[in-house]
Order: sequence, then structure tokens, then C-alpha cells
Amino acid sequence: MIPYGRQSISAEDKAAVLAVLDSEWLTQGPAVPRFEAVAAAICGAPHAMAVSSGTAALHLGCLALDIGPGDRVWTSPITFVASANCARYCGASVDFVDIDADSINLDAKVLADKLHAARRDGKLPKLVIPVHFAGRSCDMEAIGELSREFGFRVMEDACHAFGAKDDQGHPVGACRHSDMTVTSFHPVKIVTTGEGGMLTTANPEIAERISRLRSHGIVRNPEQMTGQPDGPWYYEQIELGYNYRMTDLQAALGASQLDRLPQFLARRRQLVKRYRQLLAGLPVQLTAHGADDHSAWHLFVIRVEAQRRLAIFQALRAADIGVNVHYIPVHLQSDYRRLGFAPGMFPVAEQYYREAVTLPLFPGLDDTGQDQVVAALAEALQ
Ligand SMILES: *Cc1c(COP(=O)(O)O)cnc(C)c1O
Repeated sequence: MIPYGRQSISAEDKAAVLAVLDSEWLTQGPAVPRFEAVAAAICGAPHAMAVSSGTAALHLGCLALDIGPGDRVWTSPITFVASANCARYCGASVDFVDIDADSINLDAKVLADKLHAARRDGKLPKLVIPVHFAGRSCDMEAIGELSREFGFRVMEDACHAFGAKDDQGHPVGACRHSDMTVTSFHPVKIVTTGEGGMLTTANPEIAERISRLRSHGIVRNPEQMTGQPDGPWYYEQIELGYNYRMTDLQAALGASQLDRLPQFLARRRQLVKRYRQLLAGLPVQLTAHGADDHSAWHLFVIRVEAQRRLAIFQALRAADIGVNVHYIPVHLQSDYRRLGFAPGMFPVAEQYYREAVTLPLFPGLDDTGQDQVVAALAEALQ
């Protein structure tokens, strides 16, 4: 089976992990800050905080912005469930903003209309979470402008877009139009730490709060304590946090992976270019991706006739091609329908979902494998 995505692990990656096993620290040692420093430089962000998963990063981001009961958080319906669940962990309510049919990203024009209506009803969101679907940045300039006009916070979900650039060519993660950016290092993503995630921000208070919340809300610096320490052993829990730390084993793998980020991105872009050539003439629709060298190209999604999608998907799976569908609209999950969401509420997202098929795309996919994918697709489309 050729999977839709797969990690690429080198001899150097393995050596980096083994070196940590021989060291004094398996966790809370020097590998995490080292990984954070390199990642921050890549993103052009002053602060990077590594955590145990992308989901943990989303949760901590909400907590650091004081999202709680009574607050509203808006995101895209075409994303992994974690982008929406993070708000619910904090007791906030979730709503969705329909997507742009070409980019599959949250549509900034739909967002503007929904914000005007929400202002009239006194129901503005406290936080909007744009998701950079498949690796392409949302229109962050437009979203940033709306955030200033309507007074909401912005957390970018860049789990697909580590190493990407926005439409203006600035690195995703620099947070030029947001409070923070979240990414994931799950094995199918751009670089991996096994499980892992990260938040970047330009705001030092947010950075400090997240560093504290990822480790139980504990501080060790007497200046941050509410009173005098009892002695040199003393630490103080000044708010309720979690154990969302990344281990040194993971961070060492991540730092080693970052050395190959340019190669990973180049190979993904090369495969995309090849897909475009090979798919020309077939009855499939590609998603618009802006400048090719801006997207991180986490996913390669094609759209086929809705009535034929199931048969095409099954034919590809039968031919050992590990196609997938990204994503089932979050509002159609039973756990969201229970909250009152229903089919028809976000029609552009729902139509996209009926047509979408994700083809394999990962740095280790060779030309022969890609030819096999296209041949099986051409046959399935007949
Ligand atoms: C992968 C992913 C997440 C969650 O990341 P984990 O590291 O798996 O917790 C969140 N949002 C999006 C868009 C993702 O693709």
C-alpha cells in the first residue's frame, strides 16, 4: 500500500535519538530548547514552545488567551477535529465559518459577513482559528484586519504548514497577523517528532504563560511567586496547568528533521508539479494553491464527481493506493450534531467533502510510485 503520507527517517535522525538515550536527560534537558531555537528561527518568531502534540498546543493557546465558558471560538469546518475541540476543552462554544471553494481555507469574506451579523446580535467571537489547509496559508492580512476591527484574537492552526510562507512571502509562524501559531509534528506532517507540537508567538507574555501551563502551571523563579519561597527546593503552582511537555528524545528527532526541511519541501513541491502534468486531461479538479513555493504541500487533494467518489476511492484502495479524505466536516460529526449542528449549515464545505480524495504525497514517494498512483486513478476514472 502506498500511504497518503509517511515520515522520512534518516540515519542521522536515529543517531540523534540514540545520543539522547545515552545522555543524562530523557526529558527537560537541553534538546528541547535547542529544537525550539531552530524552529523559531525558521518561523521568524521570537518565541517557540515545544509541547506533546498539536492538540496540546491548541489547548494551551486557548488557555493562554483566557478562553472559557461563555466565550465563542470560530474555525473552519474543513479541518481535523482538534482545531474545534480545543475551545470545548475550555468550556467555550464553537462555531464555523464556511470555506472558499478554491483554496478550501476559511473564507475571509464569509468571515466578515458573519462578524457583522454577530455584532448586531451581540455574539462576537473571542477567538478565530484559521486553518492553513493542505499547507497553504489563509488570507492572514484580511483576517488580521478583521481582528482589529471586531476585536477578536487569532490563533493560526498551521499543523499542515510548517515551513510554508503566507501570500506576502513571510514565513508562517511569524504571527504578523495573529497572537500565536500552532503546528503539529505527527508522523504524517511536514516534519515529525513521533507525537509533538509547537506554538510560536511574538508576544512575550503569551510565551511565558504557555511555558508555565505546559508544566502544571508551576514556576521556579522567586520573582514570579506570590510570596517568599520556603527554601531552595521551592516551586509554586500559580495556576492550573498540565503535563504537555515534549521529551528530549522527541526534540532531538525534531531538530535532526529540521536539517532536512528544505529537502522535504522541495520534494513535495516537485511531486506536486509532476502530479499536475500527469493529471492534465483527467476529469479531476485541483485545489488552488497560490504560489507553489509558498505552500508546504502537506496534502494533495483532488476533486471528482460526487456521485463517483466512493467508487473511485474503493478502486484506488483495491489497487493498494492509500487514498484518504480530508476532512469529514467537523460540524457533521455526531458529537457536534448533538450540539445543534446539522447538514446544510456550511454548504461549500459539504460540497467539497462529497468530492474530495487525498492522493499520496510525502518526501519518500518516488516517481515510480507516483506513476502507479496516477495509472490507478486513470483506470478508476474510466
Ligand atoms: C494534525 C492536526 C492537528 C492535531 O495535531 P496532533 O499533533 O495530531 O495533536 C490539529 N489540526 C490540524 C489541522 C491537523 O492536521
